[in-house]
Amino acid sequence: MSSQIPRPLMDSDSQPFWEGLKRQELMIQRCDECHQHIFYPRVLCPHCFSDKVAWTQATGRGHIYSYTVVHRAFGPFSDQVPYVVAIVELDEGVRMMTRIVGDREAIKIGVPVEVIYEKVDDELLLPYFILR
Ligand SMILES: [Zn+2]
Repeated sequence: MSSQIPRPLMDSDSQPFWEGLKRQELMIQRCDECHQHIFYPRVLCPHCFSDKVAWTQATGRGHIYSYTVVHRAFGPFSDQVPYVVAIVELDEGVRMMTRIVGDREAIKIGVPVEVIYEKVDDELLLPYFILR
């Protein structure tokens, strides 16, 4: 079934992010001019428009900014319900859409989480989060 799951687009802008996941490292960007962190990957800083953006390893720690529980799904994810889709705000200040795994009853906005690396198949790890 997992072979039918849509594959992420790995372009040149995002390649260091995907390569980092294979090493179980959560890579994000940081602007060398204004020093703010950046996610999703891009060539210009969205804060000051500098092109001096560099890759850095995130702590992998953050909190739940928002979430929803998916009870009904269609297509390739229909056999995975129920699952939790969340926006996690990392300690570095950037937000990413992800999944939360573990005890659903304990999930609340604001609770601290940390990254885990979910093996989809031999080629792909995805950053999911668990409560900490
Ligand atoms: Zn900047």
